Amino acid sequence: MPGSRRYGGDSSVGYEDSWYYHSAGEIPSYAALDQDCKVDVAIIGAGYTGLSAAIELAKNKVNVAVLEAHKVGAGASGRNGGVLGTGQRKDQLELEQWLGQDAAKKMWQIAVEANQLVRQRVDHYEIDCDLRDGGLTVAHRERHETGLWDYADYLEQHYGYTAKEKVNREEVAEILGVDSFFGGYIDSNVAHIQPLKLSLGLARAAGQEGAVIHEHSTVQSIVQQGSRILLKTDKATLSADKVIIACNGYLGNLQRDAAVYQMPINNFILATEPLGEARAREINRRDLAVVDTRFVVNYFHNSPDHRLIFGGGENYSSRFPSDLKRFVRRHMLEVYPQLADVKIDFAWGGTLAVTMKRMPHFGRKADSIYWAQGYSGHGIAMANMGGKLVADAIMKQAEGFDLYARLPHQKFPGGVLLRWPGLVAGMLYYSMLDRL
Ligand SMILES: Cc1cc2nc3c(=O)[nH]c(=O)nc-3n(C[C@H](O)[C@H](O)[C@H](O)COP(=O)(O)OP(=O)(O)OC[C@H]3O[C@@H](n4cnc5c(N)ncnc54)[C@H](O)[C@@H]3O)c2cc1C
Repeated sequence: MPGSRRYGGDSSVGYEDSWYYHSAGEIPSYAALDQDCKVDVAIIGAGYTGLSAAIELAKNKVNVAVLEAHKVGAGASGRNGGVLGTGQRKDQLELEQWLGQDAAKKMWQIAVEANQLVRQRVDHYEIDCDLRDGGLTVAHRERHETGLWDYADYLEQHYGYTAKEKVNREEVAEILGVDSFFGGYIDSNVAHIQPLKLSLGLARAAGQEGAVIHEHSTVQSIVQQGSRILLKTDKATLSADKVIIACNGYLGNLQRDAAVYQMPINNFILATEPLGEARAREINRRDLAVVDTRFVVNYFHNSPDHRLIFGGGENYSSRFPSDLKRFVRRHMLEVYPQLADVKIDFAWGGTLAVTMKRMPHFGRKADSIYWAQGYSGHGIAMANMGGKLVADAIMKQAEGFDLYARLPHQKFPGGVLLRWPGLVAGMLYYSMLDRL
């Protein structure tokens, strides 16, 4: 699409490019906010964080409205790789060293519950999001293989976690039909899902519980007026007692106190043409969500209509690569050279937020403005949990929220405007190591 705008951090661009959009069925519309109103809690952003908070609050009879700049799930929540993970983005050994045993164990428990929370909602609200159980983590270097196995043992011995089954190089080759990888483990709690269908299902659930959603309602400013907070859109003003900022990688400069702790990063995915059942089985015999150990991770799984959905490659600028199909295909062919003849039907990008410590960043200002962000690529489970923990905090049960809010995060050097160069240098360094 030469000449089209392709910007990271702008949810109105590229949302309709994904295979998810084209396979989501009918996509409902929610009216824009067009008259001034008052609510108890206003939520900015209709991704997993915002919708999850809306469900919890509305379920507890709190009067809540969600303002979304573009469409439900138009941010990362409707465009991501679909890997419903377990655990935190950081491994437990690092967390123990950083925070001590007690806090690390609590974090682990929250992450386990985050995975369960998504599954409970899928069941309870009957969300059809193509959920398929099982995830395979594979080493892309031989030296990473024993690290993965040792970690599986550690979790079993110290956390009683028995869901990880170790697999060796031959078994991986048998499952994936390629010898591009070494050994790893299969985790039965990991799953793959259709992320936009999950977003749309959560929005329906929030509506069922009594929340109101407004699409095409970009919040332009957040202004404290006495005890109320005013959110101004181009058509109207929403007045709230409390506000939840759930914008993650699409936050821009709307709230500086949150923005300085996160960095938006663009990541890219493709969907091949349908491969046919037999060929799709050859490249993933157990229908698993696969991730590898690269710093810029490759992740892939098959769709119900037998396409390969493959995520690989990222950039750190405000522009997406001009030819996304070619950009991601290169990564796909490193893993599956036998797919060189296959047509790429869709390619798209999305923006996520990372933190310096690769753990979510939660914060509050004057007990009236709250945020949860920075899931660092691990947000399907954790953004759902983030939204719930913010909602709990607003309902005076802040234990989980405070655990995250107390994490000693670092700001990105250079502040909101100048945070790019240092990060770009760092990221390029690590992605270069992937190739060595
Ligand atoms: C390409 C890609 C692949 C990924 N793969 C995975 C994966 O496989 N597994 C995993 O666990 N995680 C993955 N992630 C991360 C995961 O998708 C995110 O962590 C998660 O979706 C964040 O949810 P959120 O609700 O916080 O933010 P988002 O879903 O990004 O939602 C933010 C919303 O805020 C809205 N917004 C922003 N500013 C305003 C404003 N001023 N007014 C109103 N609305 C506003 C945006 O329009 C957007 O809809 C991936 C992310 C990307 C981009």
